[in-house]
Amino acid sequence: MLDWLRKLFSGGTCTFCKRKTNEKRRYLNDKGKPIAVCTYCIEYAERRAYRRKR
Ligand SMILES: [Zn+2]
Repeated sequence: MLDWLRKLFSGGTCTFCKRKTNEKRRYLNDKGKPIAVCTYCIEYAERRAYRRKR
């Protein structure tokens, strides 16, 4: 059930553009779900006020 989550972080595709990327940051969306954001979409995530996950 959580396979897509694991794939998200180990495989490395951006939540927004679906591009494969090695350089990505983890954010929490407005529902508190962890998402991966590539360098191209970080600005978008910041604008949406997604919280940075540590
Ligand atoms: Zn992206």
